[in-house]
Amino acid sequence: MKVPVLDLAATHAAIRDELAGALLRVLDAGQYVLGPELEAFERELADYVEADHAIGVGSGLDALVLALRAVGVVPGDEVIVPANTFIATFLAVSQVGARPVPVEPAPGTWGLDVEAACQAITPRTRAIVAVHLFGQPCDLEPLLALARERGIALVEDAAQAHGARHRGRRIGGHGDAVCFSFYPAKNLGALGDAGAVTTRSSAIAERVRLLRNYGSPRKYQHELKGQNSRLDEIQAAALRVKLRHLDGWNARRRAIAGRYLDGLAGLSAFTLPRWLPFTEPVWHLFVIDHPERDRLQGFLAERGVGTLVHYPVPAHQCLAYAELGLAAGSFPVTEEASRTHLSLPIGPHLSDAAVEHVIASCRAFARGDA
Ligand SMILES: *Cc1c(COP(=O)(O)O)cnc(C)c1O
Repeated sequence: MKVPVLDLAATHAAIRDELAGALLRVLDAGQYVLGPELEAFERELADYVEADHAIGVGSGLDALVLALRAVGVVPGDEVIVPANTFIATFLAVSQVGARPVPVEPAPGTWGLDVEAACQAITPRTRAIVAVHLFGQPCDLEPLLALARERGIALVEDAAQAHGARHRGRRIGGHGDAVCFSFYPAKNLGALGDAGAVTTRSSAIAERVRLLRNYGSPRKYQHELKGQNSRLDEIQAAALRVKLRHLDGWNARRRAIAGRYLDGLAGLSAFTLPRWLPFTEPVWHLFVIDHPERDRLQGFLAERGVGTLVHYPVPAHQCLAYAELGLAAGSFPVTEEASRTHLSLPIGPHLSDAAVEHVIASCRAFARGDA
């Protein structure tokens, strides 16, 4: 049996007519950038994530860059980031000319550790970026309190957390600015690249709105040195269709995660995901840890089970960040996780039979059938 780690074509096939109708509507409307589909999507997204404002941009990376600029990060500043994240979190900080200051994750979950963040603050710290990694919300209340007390901004990277909840409220309106990616493989994905910033602050929303469009409130009037990073009408129309299905898709992910948690419970050497009890993860990824990760990955591949590693090389150890001068061993928890993490197949496309096959294959590995 073949179990792909993710099957986007299957997800889209199920809503093919709805999507095609939306794309043709844009084609016929004749307006392709900053039009009615974007305006409607921004309103629908803001409502969905319980924020006051949503601003569509070109990608998740751009959402982070524009959010950092909008909260006032300038060249020479320091921004605290989790060491265990996708490299885009670091790259956004670098793109605004600031320095990423990585910290180890909170013990027990993979979220940002408030103690570690607190210790990393210096007089040059301008912002903290909390990443809701794998779709599991970080502990936001102490982070918000810390940011407020120290007069720095809290930006959230919610690229993996569309629809997740923290103490009952959706991720999207807690921090100063919350950044979403709609890369196709995300829980809410476009048919190409797209992203958004959500916020409760009208001042931050206004700055992101200007920055994404040449710093321009109206044609040929330029108030800020902005960039061109807009969410186009085709993507906005597709995202509007897909947003209506997001809760259903996330519910399916939750059911699959529940089945994995039951089926893999107690397996020797397997460590299962843990999350904060007052949060509702959306299972962008289902990440287990195993000391013989590579051998397990090979064993699963032989049985047709696709898996991925998020992420095999921590950002601080990538060539791009040699400048940080962080030798191997600087972030032992993050570095160890890069050797033990394994992402099992998960997504709305996955059948019960596929899930059972993944569980049976993991159990066979644990029994020593390899
Ligand atoms: C996907 C992702 C991004 C970047 O989003 P893009 O749309 O690919 O630019 C940033 N941070 C995290 C945690 C991500 O998973």
